Amino acid sequence: MARYIFVTGGVVSSLGKGLSSASLGYLLRSQGYKVRIRKMDPYLNVDPGTMSPFQHGEVFVTDDGAETDLDLGHYERFTDISAKQSDNITTGRIYSDIIKKERRGGYLGKTVQVIPHVTDRIKEFIKKDITNEDFVICEIGGTVGDIESLPFLEAIRQFSNDNGRSKSLFIHLTFVPFLKSSDEIKTKPTQHSVKELRSIGIQPDIVICRSQQSIPLDQRRKISLFCNVGIDNVIETVDVKTIYEAPISFFNQKLDKQVLKFFKIKSRKRPNLIPWKKITNIVLKTKQTVNIAIIGKYVNLKDAYKSLDEALTHGGISNKVKVNLVRIESDKLRSREIKSKLRNVSGILIPGGFGKRGTEGKIEAIKYAREKKIPFLGICFGMQMAMIEFARNILNIKKASSSELDKNCFPVIGLIDEWNKDGKIIKGTDKNLGGTMRLGLYEAKLRNNSAIKNIYKSSMIKERHRHRYEVNINLMQKYEKKGLMFSGISPDNKLPEIIELKNHPWFIGVQFHPEFKSRPLSPHPLFSSFIKAAKSFNGK
Ligand code: GLN
Repeated sequence: MARYIFVTGGVVSSLGKGLSSASLGYLLRSQGYKVRIRKMDPYLNVDPGTMSPFQHGEVFVTDDGAETDLDLGHYERFTDISAKQSDNITTGRIYSDIIKKERRGGYLGKTVQVIPHVTDRIKEFIKKDITNEDFVICEIGGTVGDIESLPFLEAIRQFSNDNGRSKSLFIHLTFVPFLKSSDEIKTKPTQHSVKELRSIGIQPDIVICRSQQSIPLDQRRKISLFCNVGIDNVIETVDVKTIYEAPISFFNQKLDKQVLKFFKIKSRKRPNLIPWKKITNIVLKTKQTVNIAIIGKYVNLKDAYKSLDEALTHGGISNKVKVNLVRIESDKLRSREIKSKLRNVSGILIPGGFGKRGTEGKIEAIKYAREKKIPFLGICFGMQMAMIEFARNILNIKKASSSELDKNCFPVIGLIDEWNKDGKIIKGTDKNLGGTMRLGLYEAKLRNNSAIKNIYKSSMIKERHRHRYEVNINLMQKYEKKGLMFSGISPDNKLPEIIELKNHPWFIGVQFHPEFKSRPLSPHPLFSSFIKAAKSFNGK
């Protein structure tokens, strides 16, 4: 049977539970163990697909088309294990399933209750789809003490009781603040948080203490004593200079060693930290920078384009340059300011997006990138905007737009309600907004003699999608005549997947989201190539 590691958080949110879980995942995987990482989210949305990035940061999309929490992106980037639909669950999903079953009469007249019905469903999720994994790491969203988290905590308590305490390890991540005025590190919030957890019946086995500076032995002893955790299992995590240092830092703190010790397993081999050391070094030592403008609706929110920011950094790592993101809010971008705002950038990126607000600014910026021959990457909505710009200004179709933005336009981009996936027709549109998009991995054929084929070094690729609208294939010839090539297309020749400009050093639009597949240890070729182009533009 797999061993289960449950990760909870206390005191405050945003302590880096995701990063800790991901780093532990890497350390175990690198020793040859098979690992899965899952996330349980206590909110009532069925999935984060309909949540605004303002509320919850980016929606991460998996290969199998699930719209999930952005922490799954961390897990993938650190462990290189592709997450699945079955790796993320929310309270909303659980209740929705339970209520559907209740309406069908599935509970045979019983009263449906949090315990046992909700907790049973959570326990089912924890074990579902697990075959020969050595470790399953389950992160519980939220903070201990939240009302919403309670059923999850109760379920993991029951889980360890059902499956044997020796098969379930509890890690609790807390905050250990430093008080400047008294020049002291304070352990009380940690004590209280563990006390809260113990009142629910969970005794943590390992306490990870996030702090701004190293925790002296005396304070560690105090945490050990009050929290009833062995001193070796009080593990500190001091703020790192770059997140790529996290696996190294957790290894130095012996997190993986203590985990294996708990399960009475001998380490198979030393985890390989060389690649992390290499990239940490590059990130910290690189002096040369390139400025990349990201023009979008949510640029000022830190996590709204998390995977994209990461993928650009990865592109920088492979070119040994620091990528400086110039974040420009699209709805505040006026045409007269385009020149001044984009003067110092060596690359322009328009990310995915929804809705009309800010689109005219994006279209203006694309015109500028096209005319001034600045490297341009359009992702999903960004590619759609590039198609609109080209139609209006080169094909002279003044009413060109997307039917998402204007029902009476000339639809260069239109709504599609079915897709061909691996020979199967997938129906998309219904009345609901949630779960009605082209989601997950789809294939694209790349054209010979295209820039994109040269970048991917392959003629068939698979990338992750998340959109409802598609480029109108009927206009292909018109576009191509004027120098915009449809260089990637779906295997059934119906859906344009990639476009590029012929008379431009680097101008590419993709209908998918390459950022979801970029990893720090294997940067995505599209981002490496984009940053390379920006770097040489910079050198001009
Ligand atoms: N709004 C566009 C669509 O639904 C693009 C979505 C996106 O950029 N992810 O097609």
